[in-house]
Amino acid sequence: MGILVGVDLGGTHLRAATVTSDGQAGPVVRKAHGREDARTMAAAVVALAADLAKGEPVDALGIGFPGWVVPGTGHVIRGPNLGWMDEPFGQMLRSALPGARVVVVNDLKAIAWGESRFGAGRGAKVAGVVFVGSGLGTGVVTNGVLQEGATGVAGELGHAKVAIDGEPCGCGQRGCFEAYVGGANIDKRLRAMVRDGKVPALLEAAGGEWERVHVGMADAVVRSGDSELSMVWQEIGDLLGLALTAFASVHNPDKLVMGGGVWTTCPALREIATNRLQASLLPPAWDAIRMVDATLGDSAGILGAASLAASR
Ligand SMILES: [Zn+2]
Repeated sequence: MGILVGVDLGGTHLRAATVTSDGQAGPVVRKAHGREDARTMAAAVVALAADLAKGEPVDALGIGFPGWVVPGTGHVIRGPNLGWMDEPFGQMLRSALPGARVVVVNDLKAIAWGESRFGAGRGAKVAGVVFVGSGLGTGVVTNGVLQEGATGVAGELGHAKVAIDGEPCGCGQRGCFEAYVGGANIDKRLRAMVRDGKVPALLEAAGGEWERVHVGMADAVVRSGDSELSMVWQEIGDLLGLALTAFASVHNPDKLVMGGGVWTTCPALREIATNRLQASLLPPAWDAIRMVDATLGDSAGILGAASLAASR
């Protein structure tokens, strides 16, 4: 058997490692990229994989991609962070690596597969993986099968709607959950509040520079008892709880694997969201759920992508 390589294609870096068939990742190599076009990026990925394989043939290459990807072909419908539209990225990689199994998959789906096979989701009938970071992303593995949907965009919970003509979202639509509970949008809202002279404790926490205000800072201010910010936190936490309720109502997971920067750094927000989930979900759905923290950290997507490629 040749070498398995997993790659996480992030907004600024490629991160990659060789992976064993039982889910052990070797040392992770990081390489900066300049948001190049798809063809240049494909060449960079192939060169990185060849470096990692040290002259051995690459047998399988899996890539977690930040965007919408057609299952099977690896055709990128849209990669907003990279400015890509309609790119045959999977085909470019397959042409450069004849004989290798190549999988390009949405990054959250790669993480979901990694956590469900090798991490916190192991042993679940239905592992629901939810990451609350700069955005809101999910993946689901049901009875050992990754749910990709008909066109690869199953689980885009962040872009399910909570309001008609609501706040604008990075996807180009309005009223998405992500527009309210995604970390990048929470940051924007908090900075606007501070600029308007609200929540002085937050400006103080940011050393007097409103541009430095961020969501993790705000959670600490809420915990110290700031009533103005607590009301905002209640609203955002409730909306996040409703997003989790929608997700769990559809998928009925027995494990809810939670991760992402906002989730891990904001215990007050987490508590409000969890209480809302418990109060809103049908009892048989709530009773089935074990909420657990993701355990694989930065390797989840690399492991998941490599394992998906190896299984094709
Ligand atoms: Zn959206």
